[in-house]
Amino acid sequence: MVFRVESNQTPMGTEQRQAVLDKPVFGTVFTDHMVDICWSEKGGWHRPRVQPYGPIPLDPAASVLHYGQEIFEGMKAYRHEDGSLWTFRPEENAKRLQRSAKRMALPELPVEYFLQSLKELIAVDGDWVPSAPETSLYMRPFMFAKEAFLGVRPAKKVAYYVIASPVGPYFGGDAAPVSIWLSTTYTRAGRGGTGAAKTGGNYAASLLAQAEAAEHGCHQVLFLDSAEGYYLEELGGMNIVLVFKDGTLVTPKSETILAGITRDSVLALAKDRGHTVESRPISIDEWKQGFESGDIVEAFACGTAATVVPIGQLKTPDFTIGAPDAAAGDVTLALRAELIDIQYGRLEDRHQWMVRLDS
Ligand SMILES: *Cc1c(COP(=O)(O)O)cnc(C)c1O
Repeated sequence: MVFRVESNQTPMGTEQRQAVLDKPVFGTVFTDHMVDICWSEKGGWHRPRVQPYGPIPLDPAASVLHYGQEIFEGMKAYRHEDGSLWTFRPEENAKRLQRSAKRMALPELPVEYFLQSLKELIAVDGDWVPSAPETSLYMRPFMFAKEAFLGVRPAKKVAYYVIASPVGPYFGGDAAPVSIWLSTTYTRAGRGGTGAAKTGGNYAASLLAQAEAAEHGCHQVLFLDSAEGYYLEELGGMNIVLVFKDGTLVTPKSETILAGITRDSVLALAKDRGHTVESRPISIDEWKQGFESGDIVEAFACGTAATVVPIGQLKTPDFTIGAPDAAAGDVTLALRAELIDIQYGRLEDRHQWMVRLDS
């Protein structure tokens, strides 16, 4: 695919950009350009472009605005010590975008177009990848139904974009433990629903629960399964892993959670270290009793934006586990450090997870 590149004639000045890169605030400032590829039922994927970042012209009847036919991905570009630019397991994001597309009746973007779209954006906006510790350029590929039509059916015109924003540590950094709130009022996904797709509606559905978490002084919300309200699922935008005293790591197994690439990677690193890794249903009672008996010694959340975050405390309407200032566990910290060291090129990439973007 040959991209047409239209340069931004009024890019941000070097000094101003550097000020942004020195103190990035998640998802607030965007690079000078964006990628845009069109899809139509007749023409397939066409008109690939890199163009100045800016508003998207959209018909008020565009079906995404009415029926939420939309999907996205989240990934990062990392600057290594020698200045080279890399990303982490992008093929997994490409394949997941295809799975999300399938579920949301959107067209599947070929994996090679996805990878190329990232490289094209980095080719023009590579200077936006920050270099300070634990900073990166967050890349947000997304796809939505843009056909102007109020009937209910899959859109025949779709747009794919990639935008990017320099970011620092998500929760303030230094692996500070977070508090999470267990929602017993809301669920995020049910059997046969869209829980395994990375789609905006899942996030819209989580916002009220997230607000409830904030009212209880918590950073994030943890959802239970919708059928019984008994088994752990995941956080609004992160997966969860519990660490047992004997070194076993357990993560919920469910059709209705989003299969995180961070989780998959961290669990692979844990296996390399000799940990037993289990994916199975795990109930809120098992966590409570395991915490009380000392069998469950650590818990962490994981996702691209925040990497690996120790869970200091779980608050529920009935009981509390841990404390907001509980020290992060050793296993959590070791896995977090190893993942980050691989991503920043400080440790051998023995799984061949890193893909270079600037060559
Ligand atoms: C994106 C996402 C995750 C984390 O996935 P990663 O690939 O690790 O970034 C977890 N849960 C939900 C609901 C998500 O949308």
